[in-house]
Amino acid sequence: MSAVQLQQIRKTFAGADVLKGVDIEVDEHEFLVFVGPSGCGKSTLLRTIAGLERVDSGRVLIGGEDVTEVEPSERGVAMVFQSYALYPHMSVYENIAFGLRMLKLPQSEIDRRVNGAAQILQIGQLLERRPRALSGGQRQRVAIGRAIVREPKVFLFDEPLSNLDAALRVQMRLELIKLHKQLNATMIYVTHDQTEAMTMADRIVVLNHGSVEQIGSPLELYRRPRNRFVAGFIGSPK
Ligand code: ADP
Ligand code: MG
Repeated sequence: MSAVQLQQIRKTFAGADVLKGVDIEVDEHEFLVFVGPSGCGKSTLLRTIAGLERVDSGRVLIGGEDVTEVEPSERGVAMVFQSYALYPHMSVYENIAFGLRMLKLPQSEIDRRVNGAAQILQIGQLLERRPRALSGGQRQRVAIGRAIVREPKVFLFDEPLSNLDAALRVQMRLELIKLHKQLNATMIYVTHDQTEAMTMADRIVVLNHGSVEQIGSPLELYRRPRNRFVAGFIGSPK
């Protein structure tokens, strides 16, 4: 069964067609990357999976279940944003635990999940700190920790590394690949960075003006681009 199915997703903003009938099937445990130029609809598409954006028409299925009308918190997905959106007045521990407190989980379970995520992300020694006392890379780990503790079926990442410097970006890329193997979860990852897409993805979805240009493995897209756009986009590093 597919982890996520997008069926004929359409969305307009103020009369502009932002998603023009998108069909995508995401396999279980897959690392799928949406790539495309700025403004092509990547974030909007990801937000429709999360339920943060209503679709005008089409269906979103998660684990085979139609969730098109289901609340974001009930979809079994967790999203990591480019802006880490941490609470400045809370410790790292409380930032990670926040969503679990909303779920009213017992303290022992919250402890277990927060400490588990902190260990995976190697931020166990930072749990008492405030976000302002962290580096950019550490803040991003906290944001990822927040997603991990919710134990989602599907992780959604929207350009999570674009605020980091180049060296750290390369390191975090490798760590996210490792995290994917370790958690064995389905991950959908948005980027406008071709190198990120080519190095991280099981399969890449190339988007352009709200439509899918091509879906395939990095090697397939590189060797057999369907058109000039894909060839130009995958072939030409910035
Ligand atoms: P990407 O993430 O690929 O850069 P987005 O999905 O953010 O693209 O945006 C796609 C298009 O939709 C852009 O033209 C953007 O201006 C427009 N858009 C996105 N969100 C809104 C919104 N809430 N209201 C109006 N227009 C929007
Ligand atoms: Mg975006």
